[in-house]
Amino acid sequence: MMRVFYCIKCKKYQYTNQQNRAFCCGEPMYEVDVEFTDFVKMDCEEREKLLSDRKNLRK
Ligand SMILES: [Zn+2]
Repeated sequence: MMRVFYCIKCKKYQYTNQQNRAFCCGEPMYEVDVEFTDFVKMDCEEREKLLSDRKNLRK
């Protein structure tokens, strides 16, 4: 299963099926807990919403 990672600093996405963590901007990337196949179907607005929902939960 592909994992989706997101860098909060530079707002880049990274997809991987090998590693269970990813780094960007010298920091661990945030793992988005959505399946890659679902994630690619989402548009920018849905992604933004998903990410802001997740960030709010973590506070
Ligand atoms: Zn980055």
